[in-house]
Amino acid sequence: MTKEQQQAIIRLKNGGLSLSQISTRLGISRNTVKSFCQRLQAATQPTTETKGTCEQCGLPLRFREGHAHPRFCSDKCRTAWWNTHPEQLSPSAMVEVRCVCCGIAFRSFPSRHRSYCSRQCYIRARYGGIRHAE
Ligand SMILES: [Zn+2]
Ligand SMILES: [Zn+2]
Repeated sequence: MTKEQQQAIIRLKNGGLSLSQISTRLGISRNTVKSFCQRLQAATQPTTETKGTCEQCGLPLRFREGHAHPRFCSDKCRTAWWNTHPEQLSPSAMVEVRCVCCGIAFRSFPSRHRSYCSRQCYIRARYGGIRHAE
């Protein structure tokens, strides 16, 4: 990747484009764009503050403890995601569920039987952090 391409990726990313859009526009493979963005992110932000990834573009997300977990890095990603998941655009079908890990309320479809607000909570509850007394 050339210096120009790297700068173009940063510019487009700051403009809110998704990885796929950047890759299409620049003619660079999505994986290349993604790994560059991840390196960039890792270089500019402490990894301890990064939890989870944007469901649309895969960029690491940051959120403060006790606050609702963001699912997307930007409004553009949120819009793009909803555009590709039209079946989930009927909020009336959703019910409020509490994450059994962090207790944050989130909305989900009953048919999905979700117990966790995020994959991170699922992993945390299952594989570490929470220990139940024997
Ligand atoms: Zn994103
Ligand atoms: Zn949670």
